[in-house]
Amino acid sequence: MLKGKTALVTGGTRGIGFAIVEKFLANGANVVVAGSRQETVDKALAQLTEYKGRVLGVCPDLCNPAEVEKACLAAKNKFGSLDILVNNAGVSSATPLYKYTLEEFNKVININITGVFVCAQAAAKIMKEQGGGVIINTSSMVAESGQPAGCAYPASKFAVNGMTISLARELAKDNIRVNAVAPGVTRTDMVAALPKETVARISAGIPLGRVGEPEDVANAFLYLASDAAGYVTGTVINVDGAARA
Ligand code: NAD
Repeated sequence: MLKGKTALVTGGTRGIGFAIVEKFLANGANVVVAGSRQETVDKALAQLTEYKGRVLGVCPDLCNPAEVEKACLAAKNKFGSLDILVNNAGVSSATPLYKYTLEEFNKVININITGVFVCAQAAAKIMKEQGGGVIINTSSMVAESGQPAGCAYPASKFAVNGMTISLARELAKDNIRVNAVAPGVTRTDMVAALPKETVARISAGIPLGRVGEPEDVANAFLYLASDAAGYVTGTVINVDGAARA
């Protein structure tokens, strides 16, 4: 579905991001895996040896425009284009309001909102020049439902939804589609580490009766990245088994 396209996936070293990286590679794309540290990038690349020649690792500071521009240009220089940007890197938070420090609040806002803005800006410049592209952001079901603590996280994902819809309208004239995927509870390391009974309790509250797998989420990214979604822009797709936190 993505043969000949080049994608850059932030937070691509583990969890949902790594599942997107694998899914895109299996569908023919070249993939630039962006991680926060060289060590984790190397670890991810070591699991992708079968795709040698179609994978590149980078670790820019996602809030630093110069570093992000360099990473986007590295993708274009190695593979000839940058067609797909996946803004997946994110941090969550569960701190009650009275215990929040401004530092923690800003950390969530910076990576989850500013990082998306900086990456979208750098990638869109290249996409505009080459005649088009696709940007897909990672939201969350809590953007709509909120959560009982850690308000920075749902606030940041609500902002991601707003940026998605706004950029879709702004960049349509440049043939750049912008969408988001809003996962529900997904079985990444954090969920896998929970006691079985806790996962069973969470699953029981989800209409489809189970937590999502990273591949469930990656499938939505694949669709939005592909030409099959050629008329889809400004949309947030829920991948949550109809859970509403
Ligand atoms: P994860 O913690 O396994 O992965 C997060 C990724 O983001 C990691 O690769 C990490 O290195 C990267 N990252 C974090 N801070 C970074 C920084 N400062 N610079 C660069 N990279 C950084 O989590 P995940 O569950 O795979 O989450 C991926 C995305 O999905 C996030 O945006 C998260 O908010 C969203 N999400 C996850 C769930 C879930 O249940 N797992 C639900 C809804 C939304």
